[in-house]
Amino acid sequence: MISPIIDENKLERLRALINSAQRIAITCHKSPDGDALGSSLALCHVLRRLGKEAVVVTPDMAPKALEFIPGVRELVVFTKHELRARNVLGEAQLIFCLDFNSMKRIDRLAEVVEPLKTKRVLIDHHLDPDDAFDVLISHPEASSTCELVFRVLMQMGLLRFMDRQAASCLYVGLLTDTGGFAYSSDNPEFYEILASIMRRRIDRATLYNKAMNTFSENSLRLQGYAINEKMRLFPEQGAALIVLSQEELERFNYSRGDTETLVNKPLAIPGIYWSVFLREDADRIKVSCRSQGDFSVSDICARYFNGGGHSNAAGGDFIGTLDQAVSVFEQVLSDLFPNTNSTDNQPTQEITTS
Ligand code: 5GP
Ligand code: MN
Repeated sequence: MISPIIDENKLERLRALINSAQRIAITCHKSPDGDALGSSLALCHVLRRLGKEAVVVTPDMAPKALEFIPGVRELVVFTKHELRARNVLGEAQLIFCLDFNSMKRIDRLAEVVEPLKTKRVLIDHHLDPDDAFDVLISHPEASSTCELVFRVLMQMGLLRFMDRQAASCLYVGLLTDTGGFAYSSDNPEFYEILASIMRRRIDRATLYNKAMNTFSENSLRLQGYAINEKMRLFPEQGAALIVLSQEELERFNYSRGDTETLVNKPLAIPGIYWSVFLREDADRIKVSCRSQGDFSVSDICARYFNGGGHSNAAGGDFIGTLDQAVSVFEQVLSDLFPNTNSTDNQPTQEITTS
């Protein structure tokens, strides 16, 4: 049985809001991932089947690798179609905010959404949500926002409107936010939800392959380079660090999403239980962290990198140079492991042979 974990009073209010709205906008966090896009597009499909005019507005573009998700081509992307995005949000009678916990996570879209009087509904699984929402459905124990969208639909009696397309979108979020059912997926109900999705006859194998096992040649070569030549291991602290500069990214014709799962790779090494990836973007250093077990990287991202996230998957933005970001990482090592030696096993290219 799938338990009704979402507060019925909140769903009652949500039902009233949906009933009284015809035009509905849905938004999700910047640099949208499989869960952000999957949950937003699934909800959009269902609302349309309910007869609503629903539109998904994203702060920026979806990565190429996720273009296979049904409905991605209809996204209104703020950085590309700013006027249209402003109109859709301005005219919406209800706004859903999916897969983020704070308005900071939608970048410049926040300037558009925040002044609006329109009712806002949050559905999310990140820790510590803002209270800037009229209905706040926040369950950090959930695997993904896709799981929560499923549960909202189930408890509201709307699962019959979840067609094959919506189910495919939800599958992508359940899959990608758990690293292919590797973590955050211990609740047996997670698999009951998957079973219900499978009954919509989704093309599971194709979706799996596209979401988990498809990379451009550039991306694969960049990942190979990063692991072979840039990965530093700190065995005493169970840590790994990969740093990529803009010059290196350009050498591999980097496009958004190409390094999406790179930060997970060092965790395959026995004894390495947390991993940090620093990527030099045009205006900031993008920080990505992953960990295994009880070691929380969301605290590290919040304290040192102006970010946050989940215990085992977090990120942030660092304003400064790549070298400064590396110094902060070294500071983390010495703060968290004061009595250890923080010299690393250098990547192969830096090992000198005589
Ligand atoms: P990723 O490393 O894939 O970019 O992000 C992993 C997780 O960390 C995301 O699901 C999100 O929860 C969180 N995260 C990433 N970047 C940021 C950020 O800049 N700020 C906050 N608060 N969380 C972030
Ligand atoms: Mn998510």
